[in-house]
Amino acid sequence: MRAWILEKQAKIEERPLRLAEVPTPRAKDGEIRIKILVCGVCRTDIHIAEGDLCLRKSPLILGHEIVGVVDEVGKNVKQFKVGDKAGVCWLNSTCGTCKYCLSGKENYCPDIKSTGWDADGGFAEYITVSEDVALPLNDIRLEPADIAPLMCPGIAGYAAFKLTKAQKGDKLGLYGFGPTAFCVLKVAKSMGIEVYVSTRSAKNIQDAITHGANWAADTSKEKMPCKLDSAIVFPPAGNLVEPVLSQVEQGGTVVLAPVSSSPILIENYTENLWGRTIETLYNLKKSEADEFFEIAFSHLKIFRMCSSRSDRGKQRQLILLLRFQTDYSC
Ligand SMILES: [Zn+2]
Ligand SMILES: [Zn+2]
Repeated sequence: MRAWILEKQAKIEERPLRLAEVPTPRAKDGEIRIKILVCGVCRTDIHIAEGDLCLRKSPLILGHEIVGVVDEVGKNVKQFKVGDKAGVCWLNSTCGTCKYCLSGKENYCPDIKSTGWDADGGFAEYITVSEDVALPLNDIRLEPADIAPLMCPGIAGYAAFKLTKAQKGDKLGLYGFGPTAFCVLKVAKSMGIEVYVSTRSAKNIQDAITHGANWAADTSKEKMPCKLDSAIVFPPAGNLVEPVLSQVEQGGTVVLAPVSSSPILIENYTENLWGRTIETLYNLKKSEADEFFEIAFSHLKIFRMCSSRSDRGKQRQLILLLRFQTDYSC
């Protein structure tokens, strides 16, 4: 099969991905093989390609926003048949036997493997994966290109949102407004939660309002109009944490979504941290992915917009690069 492989990390401008012919994987026991229709490009792919995250195997096929059709099933596969629509996200495998796996907290499994990082991903024609982590998509009546971004920003956003424990009628703050925050806005609004967005970009402020935010502005210039019950911080900016905490009511939760952050300093414990909880988003759980797609299934229209929002900056460069080198588009 053809696949875009990464052997040596380099800046995207230097074209670290190379189109190559590699062996087509076969479905082993308990696995399905998916013929890939679409694979989205995530910011994390850029981090791996450029070396911000270490290279865990080489050559590596990147990509973890995978949508396709099952074209081979291994022995003992029960949940999928040939022809089913299926997806693969960042969660590729866990050990299944540790205390975390046995208590439904497999996102903390020390042996967790990620798609397109520890295991080959979706910038290719086929992928094999355990049926236990594959996501059934037969009911999601969206175009594959519209489903792909839900695989990462969608699921990750939902996981971050769950950590806030926000309930109907609550006020939720979103700091930063990229594709993940966009999906959170959609989920939260569908559940009757008020959403307050802080972003520096004038375009994002307008987008947030257009898509249902109760309020959106740049909080470095304009004050949040009310206290929040909870908030999610998306940018890896440690200096945001204390101001966000100060905006959240006692008993509330601030979720930190990035995988890395500049230093976090809490200067005034009593005023700004005391009585609040800080949570961090750490990998994904299969149950959250399933729950998210159930919500997406019942609110299909509101998620149709998500795809265009992933197509920006370096991601766009990578997409253009992939298209430039061949008509095989990922
Ligand atoms: Zn991602
Ligand atoms: Zn485990």
